[in-house]
Amino acid sequence: MPLEAIPKPYRSIIQQNYSDYIADKDLNSANLKKYFDEGFNQTIKYYGDYICWVCINCMAVGVPSFGWGKKPQRCPRCKESKTYEVATFQGRASRMGNAFAWSFYYLMEKNFNFQIYPTPEGTNTHDFEITQAVAIESKGSPSYIINPDGTRVALGEPGLMRTDTEKKAFANATKYRQRNPDGFFCIVTNALPKRLLRYSDRDINAIYDITKKEQIDLFLRDIGKVII
Ligand SMILES: [Zn+2]
Repeated sequence: MPLEAIPKPYRSIIQQNYSDYIADKDLNSANLKKYFDEGFNQTIKYYGDYICWVCINCMAVGVPSFGWGKKPQRCPRCKESKTYEVATFQGRASRMGNAFAWSFYYLMEKNFNFQIYPTPEGTNTHDFEITQAVAIESKGSPSYIINPDGTRVALGEPGLMRTDTEKKAFANATKYRQRNPDGFFCIVTNALPKRLLRYSDRDINAIYDITKKEQIDLFLRDIGKVII
């Protein structure tokens, strides 16, 4: 079940990353980061979700003008400001979220022999659970993209660093809490602002940066206490 639950193309990507960065190695924050980053990178490669732009003005007259990286204010050819990014954040976001969530799922199962379960279709408050009493919401996204020309484009606000992502996760926690007053709701991410380190409130029991070894240990310890 555990491996079969992971859909294409994530299954083979994650298996490969696990064998490259985690298997037969000491688990530390450096190889954890590589494991999760490669999940993003390989998924971007698979879907062609690179950062690139095209000039609509030039395209309209049949002379293509385009390039890798963030779009220039003005097209270098026609000097008009009709340049557009090709793959948008919205398109990439759900695939990046999936890459992170399944990487987390696989790591838990394979490295810790710790079984979590993808939530049934239609559950929109959290991605994984152990029993109904333990909900895990996953919020991960990359901080950079490596384009085919080798350039590295910074994305700025990975994981919970993005305010919209934080708001969504917090809203999900509130919804979950209304239905499960005594449940354990936590968020796992690959990046969180300092103010959310060790954060908890009425709705959220904990937030973990799961790319850090000591945060994984904390996660396993906390959940261990809840499910006993
Ligand atoms: Zn142009």
